[in-house]
Amino acid sequence: MAYKRNTHQKELILSVLGEAPCHPTAGEVYERVRLRCPTVSRSTVFRVLSDQAAEGRILRLHLDGEADRYDAATAPHCHVCCRRCGRVADLPWTDPPPPADTAGFTLEGCSVVYRGLCPACRMDSNAERRL
Ligand SMILES: [Zn+2]
Ligand SMILES: [Zn+2]
Repeated sequence: MAYKRNTHQKELILSVLGEAPCHPTAGEVYERVRLRCPTVSRSTVFRVLSDQAAEGRILRLHLDGEADRYDAATAPHCHVCCRRCGRVADLPWTDPPPPADTAGFTLEGCSVVYRGLCPACRMDSNAERRL
């Protein structure tokens, strides 16, 4: 029974992540899952997301100074993160040139996060400048 319930919760967590507009944190996924399944625990949501990311079924984004975010899309793509509001958007993937020196490492992957201002924040900062 417990196993069945866990599977159900896991599916719900993954489907909520898939519906999320953009790269929610584990806390945000938990808030959404809880609306549909009030018995789910915060630690279950955090554990399922972290396990699924470790298995490569979803992406986990490490962003400086912010909570990790999760992404249901695992096809290669780049991200851009707004330095003001933290919004993350997908960008098409472009292969970076391979480094001339790998420091003895076998390279397995690469993630690219651009930083900048999202359109809403750029409008805001233009407005502030005019004041
Ligand atoms: Zn922004
Ligand atoms: Zn993404």
